[in-house]
Amino acid sequence: MDAVPTLTAPRQLVAAGLIAESDLPALEAVAARYAIAIPPAIRELLDDSAARVPIGLQFIPSANELKTTPAERADPIGDAAHSPVRGIVHRYPDRVLLLPTHACAVYCRFCFRREVVGPEGGTLSSTDLSAALDYIAGDTGIYEVILTGGDPLVLSPRRLGEIVAALDAMNHVQVIRLHTRLPVVAPERITADLIAALKRTTKALFVGVHSNHASELTEAARAACARLVDAGIPLISQSVLLRGVNDSVEALEALMRALLAARIKPYYLHQLDLAPGTSHFRVPLDEGQALVAALRGRLSGLAHPTYMLDIPGGAGKIALTPSSVATDATGRTVVTDPTGTAHIYAPE
Ligand SMILES: *Cc1c(COP(=O)(O)O)cnc(C)c1O
Ligand code: SF4
Repeated sequence: MDAVPTLTAPRQLVAAGLIAESDLPALEAVAARYAIAIPPAIRELLDDSAARVPIGLQFIPSANELKTTPAERADPIGDAAHSPVRGIVHRYPDRVLLLPTHACAVYCRFCFRREVVGPEGGTLSSTDLSAALDYIAGDTGIYEVILTGGDPLVLSPRRLGEIVAALDAMNHVQVIRLHTRLPVVAPERITADLIAALKRTTKALFVGVHSNHASELTEAARAACARLVDAGIPLISQSVLLRGVNDSVEALEALMRALLAARIKPYYLHQLDLAPGTSHFRVPLDEGQALVAALRGRLSGLAHPTYMLDIPGGAGKIALTPSSVATDATGRTVVTDPTGTAHIYAPE
């Protein structure tokens, strides 16, 4: 077991000096509804003054979570309507989500699946897992399988390896992707056994690392990422735009630079979904678009994520890239450069 235990109860957070005794009643009410987990690597980061705010906001429960706005909903992106069998979400014809567990190493206070994630009862039974794999095997239109959850890397290497091997045996599945927060929140869990489980395929296998602040990419986290990349596993990132955590050009620039330097290709920056009790984290869309536009002139092309909105209710994901092409009053094409200056584009 870890020398320092993972904190999971408000009482333990009081004892660790992370929350005030006077906040206990409100935070017990939060804990009754949403899981809490602060593993050792995150506790250590909370001692670092530069990380304290962005890390604390993401993982320490707050009484703000008890406030739900009218637009917020338990299933913000409408997964349930696209779930043909337990553990599968199939919204886009060529790719499916496989959710083998609802457990995570941390519980993010803004998680869009916060109504279902948690340590209890979240792992698919072997019967349900077989049925989910049969569903994938039975649809030859499925090109890519995305393991998510929960965090699929908290599964034992044996179980994870069995899933990877089962997908490897399906001819039509050509890409396997896993979305995880483990390399940054519990880097010591990226072991040789876990990597061996991921290598039980010759298919293209990508790992998407969820990270929201440059301070998360500690030396240990970067080493965990390096173990994956050095094993031949390409890494991409997912981040969520969060008020107080990364809602400035400087914070986003530092995050994207830190990701790229750790050999993680920035992939998506997500607009926060409308999960219950998350309004204190929400950044308006126009502000998000202005932040992303401001990154354009500052960062290497390799370091840019696509800003994404998952349309509430289940209509799917769209890119929120601000258009740099417009038409003026006389019908000419006008393009805007990274400094905001307009130019006529007339190729003929
Ligand atoms: C987000 C999502 C995907 C993956 O989308 P990409 O744009 O390929 O990253 C697949 N299925 C569902 C249901 C999703 O919500
Ligand atoms: S690790 Fe992912 S699934 Fe788990 S709580 Fe955080 S955002 Fe949600």
